[in-house]
Amino acid sequence: MIQLNDFKRMWQECSADVLDAVARVGASGWYILGEEVSLFEKQLAERVGGQNVVGCASGLDAIELALRAMELPRGARVLTTPLSAFATTLAIIRAGGTPCFVDVDDTGAIDLEAADLFFAANRDCRWFIPVHLYGHPLNCNALEALKRKYALFIVEDCAQSIGADYERIPVGGVAQCSAFSFYPTKNLGAIGDGGAVATADSKLAARLRALRDYGQSAKYVHSELGLNSRLDELQAAIMRQAFLPRLDRWTARRRAIAQRYCEAFAASGIKHAAPSHGAQSVWHLFPLLTGGPAKRDALAAHLKQRGIMSGVHYPVIIPKQRALLSIGIDAIPALPSAQRFADCELSIPIHPYLSDDEVGEVISAVEDWSRS
Ligand SMILES: *Cc1c(COP(=O)(O)O)cnc(C)c1O
Repeated sequence: MIQLNDFKRMWQECSADVLDAVARVGASGWYILGEEVSLFEKQLAERVGGQNVVGCASGLDAIELALRAMELPRGARVLTTPLSAFATTLAIIRAGGTPCFVDVDDTGAIDLEAADLFFAANRDCRWFIPVHLYGHPLNCNALEALKRKYALFIVEDCAQSIGADYERIPVGGVAQCSAFSFYPTKNLGAIGDGGAVATADSKLAARLRALRDYGQSAKYVHSELGLNSRLDELQAAIMRQAFLPRLDRWTARRRAIAQRYCEAFAASGIKHAAPSHGAQSVWHLFPLLTGGPAKRDALAAHLKQRGIMSGVHYPVIIPKQRALLSIGIDAIPALPSAQRFADCELSIPIHPYLSDDEVGEVISAVEDWSRS
């Protein structure tokens, strides 16, 4: 089977480094918030643009911690995208905010022009969580302009987009805080859960460090009500030694595969969501756009029969999730573009351990289906 993610091949290549990292942490006798976490935070800060990085337990927590450190007022409205992992919206609610939505554009990411209209019409709303979806960076110049025009507080959700940039502005480079996830399927994944917040503001970083650790500003001094959301020494050591040094190579491989897909599908007229002009995507996913739910299911079944796994990102738009019925959210505007993605999107394998032959197999399987 050609998997969406091939952790077994990854283990074959990386296990010596991983086991070395595990042995080092085990022998150190220090398992929570020690040297490994702080070294990983420093290296990640260099990687994502010279900021402060604060490790935490997940991408969900990273967004919640960022909103709380930035003092999101209770009940404040936060604009976000209807097409993302549910965690983006859940973090807003957990931080005490109220999510609002505008539609996505044809890249699948939140439509920044619609966001502009929203903020113009809702001057009391100053909070924004855009998502760099599928690894495709949003237009960071447009994001920066929005931030200035409406004096916004922004948390960029970079869970799918580590290393991506828009005209040399790295993702996370506009907002006060940006959130990363190390869930195993992400471009930089741990062997378990993990997350991080990056910020250029060292006061916010200090606040985040307290908030992730019960709100402790010094040992047994609780200045505010925090969480238990710490990144493990083990995960930090594994990522620093085994995975972070491979990230550039993995990203290059994802880009090479994307280029082959894009060229083949352009020639055969197969539709997919592409990054906007000026965007250097890291291709977390490769989203095909089929003709509708029945066609998508048929393509997924056809691929499976040819030994190729696929996924849907995401089958239900967030404002339609049942969990949101229990909280009072604003009347949901029409979101036809997000709904189209929910109905038509199918992700094909694009992980860095795909062989050239397997990429060819995926291309011919998709092309055979489109001709039939
Ligand atoms: C994975 C993901 C998250 C949540 O990260 P976890 O580490 O699973 O909590 C948030 N936002 C997006 C866009 C994601 O893809």
